[in-house]
Amino acid sequence: MDLECNLQKIKENISNAAKKVGRSPEDITLVAVTKTVDTDIINEALKLDIEHIGENKVQEIQRKYDQIEKDVKWHMIGHLQSNKVKYIIDKVDLVHSLDRKSLAKELNKRAKKNNKIVNALIQVNVAEEESKYGLKLEETIPFIESILDYDNIKIKGLMTMAPYAEDPEDIRYVFRDLKKLSENIKNKNYENVDMNYLSMGMTNDYEIAVEEGANIVRVGTGIFGKRNY
Ligand SMILES: *Cc1c(COP(=O)(O)O)cnc(C)c1O
Repeated sequence: MDLECNLQKIKENISNAAKKVGRSPEDITLVAVTKTVDTDIINEALKLDIEHIGENKVQEIQRKYDQIEKDVKWHMIGHLQSNKVKYIIDKVDLVHSLDRKSLAKELNKRAKKNNKIVNALIQVNVAEEESKYGLKLEETIPFIESILDYDNIKIKGLMTMAPYAEDPEDIRYVFRDLKKLSENIKNKNYENVDMNYLSMGMTNDYEIAVEEGANIVRVGTGIFGKRNY
């Protein structure tokens, strides 16, 4: 496995996908998904041009946080239990997985205690897969409206995970639907909400996600190789 080579390839693909639809590659943030990857290897990778890392477990963030030598932005991309918010509230820059009121309540409370504003994306389960977390498309606006008075949460956009597809063309609609939803939300001009980020696209489908408007892509396997659980 050659981290540098993998990373370069992915950046090149992102760049090509962006250009294909007239977008600027610099507008797209690559989050390197470091879940299950040892900190030695992460630190090695961070010598390259990586500024954002994504983890899906609170415990892993806690364990790795002090071992990471570079000042990177941490993204919480996995399901977040309310009772664990307190362990990461001071560590993460963006929570991608806000999907229910009880979590919003806890995030707001802990952010307030820490004198900070927590940035969050609403996770949407566009394809309505049983196995995945997230709100349905039509639940998203009512949900946002129900947490508008949580002053210590800043909603920055939407996140989705597409179903696995042999041919990622089959899931293009997922990214398209999320983009459409984000535009609908933007048009409502809620005070505490902006729709600056669309976090969508993983190793299998990031190019299509970029074509459909992703500006955060979350890539693990494509950089670090197959995970050992
Ligand atoms: C693991 C994970 C990724 C990265 O998946 P790869 O297929 O390895 O690129 C992206 N997003 C979330 C939410 C994940 O849990």
